[in-house]
Amino acid sequence: MDITNSRKLFEEAREIIPGGVNSPVRACKSVGSAPLFIDQAQGSRIIDADGNIYIDYVGSWGPMILGHRHPEVIKLLEFTLTRGTSYGAPTVMEVRLAEMIIEAVPSMEMVRMVNSGTEAAMSAIRLARGFTGRDTIIKFDGCYHGHADSLLVEAGSGVATLGIPGSPGVPQSFVDHTLSLPYNDIEAVKSVMDKKGDKIACIIVEPVAGNMGCVPPVPGFLEALREQTQKHGSLLIFDEVMTGFRVAHGGAQALYNITPDLTCLAKIIGGGLPVGAYGGRRDIMEKIAPQGPVYQAGTLSGNPLAMAAGVATLKLLKEPGFYEALEEKAKRLAIGLQGAAVVAGIPAFFTRAGSMLGMFFTDREVKNFDDAKTSNLEMFTAYYKGMREKGIYLAPSQFEAGFVSSAHTNEDIDETVRAAAEVLKCIKD
Ligand code: PLP
Repeated sequence: MDITNSRKLFEEAREIIPGGVNSPVRACKSVGSAPLFIDQAQGSRIIDADGNIYIDYVGSWGPMILGHRHPEVIKLLEFTLTRGTSYGAPTVMEVRLAEMIIEAVPSMEMVRMVNSGTEAAMSAIRLARGFTGRDTIIKFDGCYHGHADSLLVEAGSGVATLGIPGSPGVPQSFVDHTLSLPYNDIEAVKSVMDKKGDKIACIIVEPVAGNMGCVPPVPGFLEALREQTQKHGSLLIFDEVMTGFRVAHGGAQALYNITPDLTCLAKIIGGGLPVGAYGGRRDIMEKIAPQGPVYQAGTLSGNPLAMAAGVATLKLLKEPGFYEALEEKAKRLAIGLQGAAVVAGIPAFFTRAGSMLGMFFTDREVKNFDDAKTSNLEMFTAYYKGMREKGIYLAPSQFEAGFVSSAHTNEDIDETVRAAAEVLKCIKD
């Protein structure tokens, strides 16, 4: 692929934007490639600044469940745009989006809109601390809940990709209030809760981890979190920023039938525009200002364009059979890739939850971050580069999930599997 324009733009960007990007993993540093600058996208395809076309499995890191530029989303956005872009005052669209979220995710009796997943998780934790009067939180190694200070401890996503152990700039006293445990380790949770349960404000978890690659919960893990938090008067927060409206219409909590106290959302509910939300039990949510004393605010929160894109997206997700059809495509891809790895004789472990997929270059079963870290990163890099050359756009990190959208066709998926078979064979040879 000729990526001359992307390379030139990256050079320019590096002079004036740290690392040339506005979010670290995009720089493609860990795979030693120049990032592609994207010019436009349509359906399952994205087009870079040199006019190269790729089948996209990043989907803007999750939001684009309908593919790019879905006509219904564009239509409502255009209508909204002609009326104004921001008022800093309530609008009907916020109420409609909140209603749609609550209808799909019944544990969210009330919902507050914010601008990102980071804000959603940060605010939910503040609320949990305010509600319980406790400071300490439990998270899990390799889970990512955005870049708020206390949540970078042993975090996944870019922190894992770049191998950063937390971050300079986070005071030790903040870190002291965060306990990070191995994902899927029920005994570790029980043991800490037995000793410190009365100090724990909340357990925050990605109910399907998506930031160490895709790692579903083992049977009983989410149930144990629910049981332990209830036993010790702590809150259970499901960070469904990635899984919300992705693994099922009601998110992972519907898929696994667990009711958390609070839920964080973002990505899909903004239909590709910047958004986040947190919500949950009414008695807890009523503690948020101005109804209660826990402060949280935002100039652009509930932005009309973001709300419109969210409303148009969620409306389409309600159509009968949407998730079944999406899952069929994801299965087709997962089975195809698995077959390609077997034929090539490459050891790989595959995971999937709905239309979220993981492919780890390891012979180990991946249940947690330590398992994920046994992956052969050189092999991943070769795979990423080979696939990109063949017009398949993947996240440039072993520690990220892949996403299938409703815009992907069976032909797209078959083309992807053919490309993977060739690339994996080359890697083996
Ligand atoms: N929580 C989870 C589970 C995420 O996957 C992410 C981002 O990928 C975040 C929080 C942070 O969201 P944002 O990047 O919108 O701040």
